[in-house]
Amino acid sequence: MSFDREAVLKLAEKYDSFYLYDERKITESINALKTSFSGVEFLYSLKSNPHHAVLKCVADNGFGIDAASAGEVQSAFECGLGKDKIYYSAPGKTEANIRCSIDKSVVIADSVSEVERIEEIAEKLGITAEIGIRINPDFTFAGEGGVPAKFGIDEEQVFENLPRWKSFGSIRICGIHIHSKSQELNWETIAAYYERVFGLAVRFRDALGGKLKFINFGSGIGIPYAPEDNPVCIEKLGVKMTALLEEYGKEFPEARFFVETGRFVCGKAGVYATRVVDKKISRGKTFVLLANTLNGFIRPSVAQMVLCYTDEDKPAGNEPLYTGRDAFEFIPLTDSEETETVTVTGNLCTATDVVLKDTLMPKMDCGDVMVITNAGAYAAVLSPMKFAQLNPPKEIFRTVKGEYVE
Ligand SMILES: *Cc1c(COP(=O)(O)O)cnc(C)c1O
Repeated sequence: MSFDREAVLKLAEKYDSFYLYDERKITESINALKTSFSGVEFLYSLKSNPHHAVLKCVADNGFGIDAASAGEVQSAFECGLGKDKIYYSAPGKTEANIRCSIDKSVVIADSVSEVERIEEIAEKLGITAEIGIRINPDFTFAGEGGVPAKFGIDEEQVFENLPRWKSFGSIRICGIHIHSKSQELNWETIAAYYERVFGLAVRFRDALGGKLKFINFGSGIGIPYAPEDNPVCIEKLGVKMTALLEEYGKEFPEARFFVETGRFVCGKAGVYATRVVDKKISRGKTFVLLANTLNGFIRPSVAQMVLCYTDEDKPAGNEPLYTGRDAFEFIPLTDSEETETVTVTGNLCTATDVVLKDTLMPKMDCGDVMVITNAGAYAAVLSPMKFAQLNPPKEIFRTVKGEYVE
């Protein structure tokens, strides 16, 4: 992975640990999506990286927001986005969450009782709320056949309840949202899923007997983490989506088509940099201690933990906490030509902050800087930075013009 070594070293003079997000890379990913897909709008999944400058960058590039909480609806609203650009989809929304989001976003109901709750709230507010329904479909990325899930409403229940929902006076159902998986690298698998969503949308539209204003295909587009991962062929996926839109688009003359993405936009646009704060030899083993590992960027430590509980070579991913073996590259910024076998840990008062075990690395000394890649999405947000009151990492955004924004 490429990153600006000089910029990292310069910032490391000031900070022991920090994230560096690169606007140029974010816009490259955005442009790859925009040029490959036509007739589709994108929603940025803010939970992947809510840094204010990242949010502003994606919004300035025309993306809407996939909000996972009322707080994210508020952030998108404060960034200047209108209701037609903010889609609030999350399980377990409280009445307060719905009340404060209903005029700022399109709320997507996640359960049968939530549809009723939204109806009651809208009635009390004296409004007619246009909402979406998140459907737990009778298919997955693996093919036909649904699974039990805490997300959305089972397709069967949707069709059962739709006649009743249509009689509600204060809500109007105008769209559907189906998201069933993240981090898929096979474009054909994603394309097959898109096609199934179109099929479901047709059946839903027929049962609704009204026009759909949006069909939200959710996410799925993955990014390469481990060296053997191949990137999703975005061009081919875009071509297939265009063909599907030609086939099905006429069924939905008033609909907008949304694809959500978090990690594709910013996952590879960020690195984490930290410093060697100590080094010691214990009973023949060499330990290198970095500032803020588990508490600054948790995922490499989680990966070590997952791997120590299994003999499987490739335990399945569990996004967004665990993706797979070797998902992060560790790059010490040293000119040393010597190597040594080291165990690399953090500086917490717990032993669970190990990021590399008995690994042959370039020789590192106190003060050296270590870069960890793939740190732009589900990184800072997931990390328990309050733990032990260590000085948390900074988050720094470098603009295309080369300015640094904190
Ligand atoms: C988290 C999430 C996403 C984003 O997934 P990525 O893999 O980051 O693209 C999209 N949609 C929903 C509903 C999500 O919960």
